[in-house]
Amino acid sequence: MAFEPHPLLARQLRRLELSVDAAPSAQWSELLERVSRAYAEGDQERYLLEHSQDLASSEMAKIYEALQSERDLLESRVAERTEALRLSESRLANLVSLSADWIWEQDADLRFTYFSAGLQHRAGIAPAEWLGHRRLEVGCVDVSAQAARQHLAQIANRESFHDFSYGYRRADGVTRYIRVSGEPMFDADGAFLGYHGVGCDETRATLAARRVQQLASYDNLTGLPNRHMFVAELEHTLARARRSGEGFALCFIDLDRFKSINDSLGHAAGDELLKATASRLRALLRESDLVARLGGDEFVVVLEGQADRQALSAVACKMLTAVSEPLVQDGRQLWITASCGIALYPADGEDAQTLLKNADAAMYLAKAEGKNSHQFYTEALKRRALHLFALESDLRQAVEHDQLVLHFQPKIALDTGRMLGVEALVRWQHPEHGLLPPGEFMAMAEESGLIVPLGRWVLRAACRQLRAWRDAGLAVPRCAVNLSARQFSDESLLSNVAASLADAGIEAELLEIEITESVLMSDAGRASSVLKQLHALGVHVAIDKFGTGYSSLAHLKRFAAGTLKLDRSFVDGLPEDRDNRAITQAVITLSHSLGLQVVAEGVETPEQLAFLRGLGCDQVQGFLIDHPLPAAQLAQRLRRQAASADSA
Ligand code: C2E
Ligand code: MG
Repeated sequence: MAFEPHPLLARQLRRLELSVDAAPSAQWSELLERVSRAYAEGDQERYLLEHSQDLASSEMAKIYEALQSERDLLESRVAERTEALRLSESRLANLVSLSADWIWEQDADLRFTYFSAGLQHRAGIAPAEWLGHRRLEVGCVDVSAQAARQHLAQIANRESFHDFSYGYRRADGVTRYIRVSGEPMFDADGAFLGYHGVGCDETRATLAARRVQQLASYDNLTGLPNRHMFVAELEHTLARARRSGEGFALCFIDLDRFKSINDSLGHAAGDELLKATASRLRALLRESDLVARLGGDEFVVVLEGQADRQALSAVACKMLTAVSEPLVQDGRQLWITASCGIALYPADGEDAQTLLKNADAAMYLAKAEGKNSHQFYTEALKRRALHLFALESDLRQAVEHDQLVLHFQPKIALDTGRMLGVEALVRWQHPEHGLLPPGEFMAMAEESGLIVPLGRWVLRAACRQLRAWRDAGLAVPRCAVNLSARQFSDESLLSNVAASLADAGIEAELLEIEITESVLMSDAGRASSVLKQLHALGVHVAIDKFGTGYSSLAHLKRFAAGTLKLDRSFVDGLPEDRDNRAITQAVITLSHSLGLQVVAEGVETPEQLAFLRGLGCDQVQGFLIDHPLPAAQLAQRLRRQAASADSA
């Protein structure tokens, strides 16, 4: 039976138009069958090959797929972990930065081996400055010996330490303040490896705390210890003195007329004076002497190991002289004096409060009795200070209760003997103490500011008196009124003068204003402008107590004054005292050459009068001629003068 040939063989036979059945022989049939088998086997092999290739590539694809997903999984896990790690690192970093600016490490020899960037960024310290060095070797500043000792002990014991603070002066000279905490590191066997820890820069906080401390203990303006610190220091001084048995002196210094300077020249000038006073006192005294500013214009000085009154007196004089040196500010000269009260430990007090109180009382008296001087505390002084203190409170009512009166002292022309003018001098009719001269209350009035209403009263009363004399038909003399420093610097001076004249209805030229040379010189620039304005009103101006200040000729020319009053102290020794003779002669010659009249004050003897007449002095005033007189008595003098003129 014919076989089924392989399709390829069948196709080839068909193309040749042959048939299997037509095989010429059995051998051909055999051949065809073998060829057909060979094709079939070839098919089989190809099939196997193709099949196996299919199989391999799909398996590979599967494995690849598996690998791919495995990798994706891994990658996403890595990403997750990385993110978690990043988060945790940044959380840690944030936490660290909450309490620390940098991280540091030291080796077992305690030498720095590592710093994180914060050291440079936060503290501006280059790690190279510290790497390889030990902490306390690189130059710690502002750390107490005790804190340093404690720190070293902790390190030696390999203990953790917390918040060790110290200062470090950088290479550029800037000091940074640093706080560090650290803990020791050990290996698995417990061997010490070094320290690591955190550090932070606390410069700002430290400086702020110091500023607070500075403000709380020191006076901002002068840099001296303030009252708070002074009291604490005084307690230490007392404790030392109690132990050693040595005495010390407490000096209370107060600037004279400071308020009026402050009011008239402004706070900047006042501040300059306070600063100058502080630095002058400081420069004069020993490093160990305590100098403080209690507030306002009050200073205190503690002189330890000083008990000898004479030596203390000398120191007090030196202090007052130093304070009264003129000071030039903005081209003008400022000038102030001070008064000083001294209390001694233990004689005048054994505790801070008593000593301060008694030194203050002594100062009060120095001031009330003429200023620019010092006083030691005594029991008698205390009584006097108490009396003055009471007086001061009474004085407040004196103006309102009409207790002030004016007395008038004549000034006469030396050539004619006629009364050319009078000086109005205030007195206080005290209900208990009787008639008090200005020396008893003027300094106090000046210091307390009561001088302003008091002075206003004097101006008005003087003008009213002139009016009353005129109304009584008398030839009215020119009347001089004294102005104090405080009044002189009062803004309303000119309007007060004008109002007093207008109210009384008298001419300005009947009024003369006396201002002391030292008040004028305390601010010569302003003085000359005020004097010009007074002059423009028609009021006369006299420079009082001439010779006691420091006028220069240039100033004298600028002041619109018509008269100089030669101070009583120069007239006092005439004609014997050579110096006074020379001064008197010089003042008279100088005044005349500047076109000024000279009035000599305090003339008590005929010899003085004769001598002054010989020098060509214009007018005299003094007990020899007349004491200051009540208005009624002065009126009699005026009447007598008018009568003698009529009869002449
Ligand atoms: P001052 O302006 O130098 O007045 C002259 C003082 O010398 C008066 O003292 C007067 O009584 C006194 N005196 C007059 N002649 C003689 C004399 O021959 N010998 C002696 N030893 N003294 C004589 P007073 O009245 O005690 O006044 C003292 C000072 O008080 C005055 O000195 C003046 O600076 C001040 N003062 C008086 N009244 C006022 C006033 O109303 N306002 C102001 N701001 N100060 C006044
Ligand atoms: Mg006078």
